[in-house]
Amino acid sequence: MHSSFQYKDEEFHMGGVSLAKIAESVGTPFYVYSYEFLKDSFTAYKEAFSAMDTLICYSVKANSNLAVLKAFSDLGSGYDIVSGGELLRVKRAGGDPGKVVFSGVGKTREEMKAAIEAGILFFNVESEEELHELNSVGIELGKKAPVALRVNPDIDPKTHPYISTGFKKSKFGIEIGRAFEVYKEANKMEGIDVMAIDAHIGSQIFDLTPFVDSVKKLISLADDLVREGINIQYIDIGGGLGISYKLDDKPPHPSMYADIVMKEFSGKPYKLVLEPGRSLMGNSGMLVTKVLYLKEGTAKKFVIVDAAMNDLIRPAFYESYHEILPVIRGSEDKDVVDVVGPICESGDFLAQDRELPKVSSGDLLAVLSAGAYGFVMSSNYNTRPRVAEVMVKGDQFSVIRERETYDDLLKLEQIPDFL
Ligand SMILES: *Cc1c(COP(=O)(O)O)cnc(C)c1O
Repeated sequence: MHSSFQYKDEEFHMGGVSLAKIAESVGTPFYVYSYEFLKDSFTAYKEAFSAMDTLICYSVKANSNLAVLKAFSDLGSGYDIVSGGELLRVKRAGGDPGKVVFSGVGKTREEMKAAIEAGILFFNVESEEELHELNSVGIELGKKAPVALRVNPDIDPKTHPYISTGFKKSKFGIEIGRAFEVYKEANKMEGIDVMAIDAHIGSQIFDLTPFVDSVKKLISLADDLVREGINIQYIDIGGGLGISYKLDDKPPHPSMYADIVMKEFSGKPYKLVLEPGRSLMGNSGMLVTKVLYLKEGTAKKFVIVDAAMNDLIRPAFYESYHEILPVIRGSEDKDVVDVVGPICESGDFLAQDRELPKVSSGDLLAVLSAGAYGFVMSSNYNTRPRVAEVMVKGDQFSVIRERETYDDLLKLEQIPDFL
């Protein structure tokens, strides 16, 4: 755990702030993110890759709160976006569109236009049809759309299938064997300016070998393209570095990742683009929830809390593990329990068969490593307002997204006249 997360007088603190104090002020559940952690994660990447011309493009979908984006842009970060909505967020947060790369298999014409007009660094084009569409948008605007082809290097990143994106059967990218031909075609298009190669092989990756294999393939393709007279300036190797979800997980440090990547790039003329998301934000955040009820069946003990799968879907969706700690340390006695939410689904759990210190109704629990793919994947299922988000910096904290109200939830709905 980061040094800024610790118990002081048995109360769990993020930096100088007690999580119990935040709960008193904003209610539960809430997400809370540490500015210091976010900054240290970014700095670790920046220092690790300092020997190369590198642009770190924080992957906005991991956590797209405006305050988070502002913090990253102040640190010099660029952005990896996957929608027009994320582009708007980057602009609202004061980010530099010139440091934006735009990925995703289903970009619309409107999104393409907005991104060209904003002056993004480049598009990561994921199919030949998309390339033609982008060309036509470029021509219509009288501009050249800056382009990387996202290639699919056919590599198994050895992670959860839902977050593996670079093997042949995945919907992402253009098969690497086809890429050379598509590049030659793209290079002749009037509305396209070819400048980069991109791949993103998956997420929560612990084994560095798949990255090496992918980078080797990208560089070799870039070399072939340059020999063909195609001006490849950037190689974007995507994101995907894993983080610790269990306290004893040992993910590779960005410096190990940097070492193996920079070794492959040595002597090459390309600039490097990275798209880390989870490894910048994941461990910086937690979901704090309150125990509502205890329920003891003959087969299981349940701790029923006020946060649910609509707030943090990762356990239900990926069967992922999140460490859970009591916000106030008390009982030394332990129990094996399922931590479940109020939602009417059996998949609604935050932990199963977990040994936790004994808790009672009203106690607060911190669900760790929830800073990435937490709030952003939350929903209003069961008409549950999405929870508040809070940022902590030093001994200050501030709500960075208010808890939704029932009015927020209902305001777009209407009953038609014919009823
Ligand atoms: C999700 C995503 C990322 C970020 O992945 P992490 O595992 O969070 O680092 C980067 N690039 C693309 C194209 C993505 O879809």
